[in-house]
Amino acid sequence: MIVESRQVTHDLSEDTDVVVIGSGCGGATVAKKLAEAGRRVIVLERGGYFTAARGDLDQRSDNMLARIDGARGLGTSRNTEIAMMYGNCVGGASVHYWADSWRLPKDRNELYLRAGLDGHAPEVLAPIFDEIEKDLNVHVADADHFNRMNQLFDIGAKKLGWHTEGVRQARKGCVKSGHCYQGCAYDAKQSQLVTHIPAALAAGARLYADCNVDWISRDGNGKANGLSASFIDRATGRPNGHKLTVRARFVVLAAGGYSSAAVWLKSGLPNASGQVGRNLFLNPCPYLYALYDEPVVMWQNIPTATGVMDFRLARYDNGRYVEGGYLLHPNQLQAEFVAATLPGFGKEHRALMDRLPNIGSAVSWIDDENPGQITLGRDGHPLYDYRLRGVDILKARDAMKKQAMLLLASGARELIVPDMAGTRLRDPKDIPLLDRIDISNGAILFGGPHPAGALRMGKHPETSVVAPSHEAHEVPNLFVADPSVFPRPPSVDPSLTIMAFSVVASRNLLQRLG
Ligand SMILES: Cc1cc2nc3c(=O)[nH]c(=O)nc-3n(C[C@H](O)[C@H](O)[C@H](O)COP(=O)(O)OP(=O)(O)OC[C@H]3O[C@@H](n4cnc5c(N)ncnc54)[C@H](O)[C@@H]3O)c2cc1C
Repeated sequence: MIVESRQVTHDLSEDTDVVVIGSGCGGATVAKKLAEAGRRVIVLERGGYFTAARGDLDQRSDNMLARIDGARGLGTSRNTEIAMMYGNCVGGASVHYWADSWRLPKDRNELYLRAGLDGHAPEVLAPIFDEIEKDLNVHVADADHFNRMNQLFDIGAKKLGWHTEGVRQARKGCVKSGHCYQGCAYDAKQSQLVTHIPAALAAGARLYADCNVDWISRDGNGKANGLSASFIDRATGRPNGHKLTVRARFVVLAAGGYSSAAVWLKSGLPNASGQVGRNLFLNPCPYLYALYDEPVVMWQNIPTATGVMDFRLARYDNGRYVEGGYLLHPNQLQAEFVAATLPGFGKEHRALMDRLPNIGSAVSWIDDENPGQITLGRDGHPLYDYRLRGVDILKARDAMKKQAMLLLASGARELIVPDMAGTRLRDPKDIPLLDRIDISNGAILFGGPHPAGALRMGKHPETSVVAPSHEAHEVPNLFVADPSVFPRPPSVDPSLTIMAFSVVASRNLLQRLG
């Protein structure tokens, strides 16, 4: 059962075993697992419920950004350096994700274990990954799903002698519409909206959409015991005046990497370690545009059928950064994002947009090492401080240089850097320019699609917020099931790891429920 705010005409209260905040990869997976185990589960999602069956997913950016994207895709870090990309709908960010499906690499899993994440060893996670991959029909993209940008990417990589790999995809019956970012109108992309959410509901979970959790409540002993939420009017995005109060034996915080720490801070929960909101990683994404003599039409077929993974781990020589520390992929940007980020104004910008079908792009996710922080402003709204610094700047420059090499090798006539100066590269000898472009304080907008770390997991309450069981050190009966717990980003796209960790959280929670 899903209740939307338009159906709510008075204040409501509920009593349940577990209340879950958020319906993305983390929340939906927990809800499914607990409901299938026979527990009473209620999920609260502040975004709306939009489905292909009802015709809500109409592939129009102006509509879809408002429906499924947090802040209509316009949210940025305080210095405007990071475009904060996150979901705000039933199914969360998975409704607009690209469906690239990676297991947590063994080296990163071992790093997590060294950081004290007991219970998350590779032999524990492997069968969980098997199960999730089955749920989501994960498979390697075949040649039919390579759009022209993917083909050009492979051509460029081959010329440079770089090894490419097919990227595993969570899709079933993909019709290659190319509108993944706007929500799949064919229910082919295996987002949480069409997988774990319906499974949770079929097992008896209940979900309130348009329902923003204002705070988590605690009993006299400091244990989480429920929450208070406000229904949101879909038309205005403002509270419609009706409240939902939930009493629960356990609360699961799965509001996503940008929001869970904010919910914690707004609720006034304890923070003796001072770690809440710190350690915000987000895999900043540098990208370059490429002008080709032929139509590329980036927004057809799937975004990332292929990629170069050999640069995933940074390489150091005697402690000095040499290269790498990112994934390298073809990019898929829709017209409105290209228009907003192509440099220039007026006629110059119009001339570029006239060539839109011939514009391609490559993108990288930086495995960032220097985190930012989430705090609350005086009005109670979250503030995001994040600035690329230290080795992360070197990684971003190196990623753009590798993109430039590949795009030029693939036949691009000219490359456009999305910086304030509108830097252009026409030849490999121009590539050193990328060492000099300004990338500070919003001079280039980096995507930030993979927020993580702001409620860090670890054994010690002095240095972490959440125990390896996923239960908060300082708030008994509060579990966290989203990437906020990662001590470092997974170094690959995170959705499968978020789901796998959430299965571990569910198992621990089931034990506590008895
Ligand atoms: C453009 C884009 C492409 C991506 N592509 C990939 C990809 O190909 N592969 C991959 O692995 N990952 C990808 N990702 C990342 C991936 O989608 C996310 O990491 C993942 O979906 C996050 O899941 P989550 O459950 O942590 O959070 P979310 O999906 O953000 O879910 C949290 C939910 O909680 C809700 N919420 C927040 N605050 C409250 C509150 N106070 N009350 C009630 N509800 C609240 C939010 O509205 C949201 O729906 C992509 C992300 C983006 C933006």
